[in-house]
Amino acid sequence: MIPGSFGYHRPTSVEEAVNLLAQFGDDGRPLAGGHSLIPMMKLRLAAPAHLVDLAAIANLKDIRADGSDIVIGAMTTQHELIGSELLSTKVPILREASLLIADPQVRYVGTVGGNAANGDPGNDMPAIMMCLGATYHVAGKGKRERRVAARDFYKGAYVTALEPGEILTAVRVPVPPDGHGFAYEKLKRKVGDYATAAAAVVLVMSRGKVANCSIGLTNVADTPLWAREAGRILTGSELEEATVKQAIAAAEAITSPASDARGPARYRTKRAGVMLARALARAKERAGDSNPGDSKQGRGLWQSLGLR
Ligand SMILES: Cc1cc2nc3c(=O)[nH]c(=O)nc-3n(C[C@H](O)[C@H](O)[C@H](O)COP(=O)(O)OP(=O)(O)OC[C@H]3O[C@@H](n4cnc5c(N)ncnc54)[C@H](O)[C@@H]3O)c2cc1C
Repeated sequence: MIPGSFGYHRPTSVEEAVNLLAQFGDDGRPLAGGHSLIPMMKLRLAAPAHLVDLAAIANLKDIRADGSDIVIGAMTTQHELIGSELLSTKVPILREASLLIADPQVRYVGTVGGNAANGDPGNDMPAIMMCLGATYHVAGKGKRERRVAARDFYKGAYVTALEPGEILTAVRVPVPPDGHGFAYEKLKRKVGDYATAAAAVVLVMSRGKVANCSIGLTNVADTPLWAREAGRILTGSELEEATVKQAIAAAEAITSPASDARGPARYRTKRAGVMLARALARAKERAGDSNPGDSKQGRGLWQSLGLR
């Protein structure tokens, strides 16, 4: 399939990009890696008259520490996330999840910003970002940069908190405490597929008990989900079977997947529960037990996870 004709623009600064997008209005669309947008254009599900390619904007492409956060430029590719020493050490769930996205060819060009801004419930990064308590930096013409919590960003399938002409410039991730446990479990039909259901877990253990736990779910509703109640149920527990079952029931209760080629709705809901059980077990196995509630960093995570 061949997309309709379109104008191609390659700004070299964020200001130039948002000016172009403001000028084109509904006819313009930002282009990042193109691995979601171009297939949509080929299928004629999207037909923007102008593409504003963000690839030549140098400062959208870096990964840097900023106090207790890591800031990832929107045009950082999934391949670069996987290769980042800083992320592997500080926020290893990002590497684990990126390795489960598509295949190396897609990951060489697909970007963290495109994945997060796309609004497709099948994208993996949104639930991870919700789980981590990340914040998105957003720029628009004539506006001061604003920040939107990932947990407030997703409004419906392909509907986000981005206003017309705005772009996501960076993702800010609070660094979880050293020794935190993490896991991303994704069920897919074959290598390279989107999730039938997936679960992200970040937890901190203290004296044998869960000091805090944050859970994100992928592709089991119109939007990615933050399973707040399930995390709350687990907090203070030793992850004993009965409590885990209760948390899984709470997580399943907030899902509302479509019945589609990946399976009937009920099956996908139950698979989300299974993915969560596996992610919890693996996160617990990986977690050190450092009594983080007493540390400054631990308190920071409690705040960032919204679980104080
Ligand atoms: C075969 C295949 C398998 C895939 N499997 C998976 C998978 O398993 N999991 C997964 O998560 N993804 C998967 N993807 C999607 C892939 O990860 C995409 O690269 C990603 O979803 C979008 O990133 P992109 O940089 O390519 O964005 P683009 O395709 O360029 O853009 C996607 C959308 O976001 C908008 N956009 C892009 N950047 C910005 C920005 N900075 N600010 C505002 N809006 C922006 C665009 O206008 C467009 O609407 C797959 C893709 C393919 C082709």
